[in-house]
Order: sequence, then C-alpha cells, then structure tokens
Amino acid sequence: MAKNIGFIGLGIMGKPMAHNLHKAGHRLFVHARRAESMVPLAQLGCASYATAAEAAAQADVIFIMVSDTHDVKQVLFAEGGVAQGAKPGSVVVDMSTISPTATRHYAARLAERGIAMLDAPVSGGDVGAINGTLSIMVGGKPEVFERVRPLFECMGKNIVHIGDNGAGQVAKACNQIVVGVTIEAVAEALTFARKSGVDVAKVREALLGGFAASRILDVHGKRMLDNNYQPGFKTKLHQKDMNIVMQTAQELGLALPAAALVMQHMNALMGTGDAESDSAAVMKIVERMSGVER
Ligand code: NAP
Repeated sequence: MAKNIGFIGLGIMGKPMAHNLHKAGHRLFVHARRAESMVPLAQLGCASYATAAEAAAQADVIFIMVSDTHDVKQVLFAEGGVAQGAKPGSVVVDMSTISPTATRHYAARLAERGIAMLDAPVSGGDVGAINGTLSIMVGGKPEVFERVRPLFECMGKNIVHIGDNGAGQVAKACNQIVVGVTIEAVAEALTFARKSGVDVAKVREALLGGFAASRILDVHGKRMLDNNYQPGFKTKLHQKDMNIVMQTAQELGLALPAAALVMQHMNALMGTGDAESDSAAVMKIVERMSGVER
C-alpha cells in the first residue's frame, strides 16, 4: 500500500534512496538544505518543502539521511525541524551514521511527543543506494521495525533488526572498526612486500585465495596497488565515523588501540590534502613513515 513518506537529506546517498521509494509507488515529501538538491526529486513529481517540519507534517514515516550527529539534531529539533511538524503516531527513521548515545537521547525526546524513532544506518555506498541493495542495521522497537520493514525493502537487501534504539548505530560503528583496521592491515602487509623487494600484486593474488582473503584486500588492496584513491568512501566520512567510535569508546571506558591508530592515520590524511580521497589512502601514510616511494 502506498505510504506518505517524508525524506530529509538528498545527497549522494539520500537522493537514490528517495528515488527507490518513489519508484516503488510511495508518495514523497522532501526537504534538503539547498533548494537545488531537491530539484531531481521534484522533477519526478515529489513535493518539496522549504523546511523539514512542513515535509514531516505530510508523512507517516520520515526518513533522514544527512551528514553527521549535529545535522541530525538540527533537522530534528531546530526551528522548522521535524519535531515541530511530525504527527503523533508517526515514525522517524534516521539512516545517517551518527553517535549511538545521541541517537538514544533523540529517540527519548521524540517519544515525549508520541513520535517513534528507528536508527537505521547503512553500508554499501552509493552503488548500493542506487541499486537498492544496501545493508541496513536497525535499532528501535521490534513492532516499529516491522511497520517500516516494507519501506526498507525498497532500499536494501540485508536488513537486520539489531536491538533497541542506538543498536543500529553500534553495529555501524563495529562495521567501521573492521573496515578501518583491515585497511591498515592490508596497507602494512603490502608495504612489507614492497620493502622486501617482492612482487606486491602477486602477494595480494596469493593472499586472496587463503585465510587472509577479504573484500578489503580485494577492493582497497587493488586501489593501493594502482595508487588510485578515487572514492569510494571518502576519508573525511571515514574519519567522522572513527571519531564516533572513539568518542563512544571513551564514554564506555573501552580501550580500542588498533582503531585509535587508524583514527590518527586518518587525521594525518585530512591534514595532508586527502580528505576527499578514498580512505584506502591510509596506504600513503604507511608508505611515508617508511620512506617508500613509487
Ligand atoms: P552528502 O552527499 O554530503 O549529503 C548530505 C545531505 O544532507 C545533503 O543533501 C545536505 O543538504 C543534507 N543536509 C546536511 N545537513 C543538513 C541540515 N542541517 N538540514 C537539511 N539538510 C541537511 O552525504 P552522503 O554521502 O549522502 O552521506 C549521508 C550519510 O550517510 C552520512 O552520515 C554518511 O556517513 C552515511 N553513509 C555514506 C556512505 C557513502 O558512501 N557516501 C555510505 C554509507 C553511509 P544539501 O544538499 O542542501 O547540502
């Protein structure tokens, strides 16, 4: 059955996700910060609004896909925000990658107004967003998840309800730890091969058939071999996510030494002009430390 859907944030990820909901026959009410970001959806016949509150007022389910924790707070609670427009009984689904702690706080504030919230960050990049094959990690009440599940199915394939509010963001932080630390490991291994005077491409090929095989060795390892760091997933976004990981670790009194090292290497990339490069460019920092030139 067609639903009335609000969609806030129409960037690299939000635009194709909103498009997929529209293609599935739902009625969309959209908002982004800049008017020009709304044009492609408006051209498809979606109603666009100058404020998030106005878009939310039309909708049963309101999706948010903006940059970071601060932006989600603005979209929800600033003047003209979702909380001012959304009807009691509606559901807010935040698909941005943000802090789990802040997420729990926002869910409690919305609940005071009779509005349910799910956190549903994604993995799979712009290609997954365009193809509707995202992996979606969901936190919130199971009955709310079941209500929204058919809409998630328009945008993703691997859709897992992890637990209560914030649990989806915890899963996404875990994802970013594994990806970041594995990028570091692949960069160190391939640099070890190069410094040893061994054919790096052949080492990667051999490792791909054994226990060290991974998507990161395959995809990011290839970028490192080619010295080509076209994104992909930009360093500035990966750094933002590692910052969420480290802040949460601090709140929990949790030591994450490998993730902390990766965070420092991403800080170094940000400071040396690689904010827009794929985060596989961690290889450049590893190489520089040992004087590897190519
Ligand atoms: P993006 O291209 O920068 O898009 C962000 C969108 O949010 C833009 O449309 C922007 O509006 C809007 N926005 C930001 N702050 C806003 C505010 N205060 N009020 C209203 N609209 C606001 O980012 P993205 O790549 O789509 O990423 C979105 C989220 O998905 C991030 O949390 C990111 O970490 C996560 N993610 C990204 C990827 C990826 O591969 N890109 C993969 C997985 C997860 P304007 O267009 O008007 O500026």
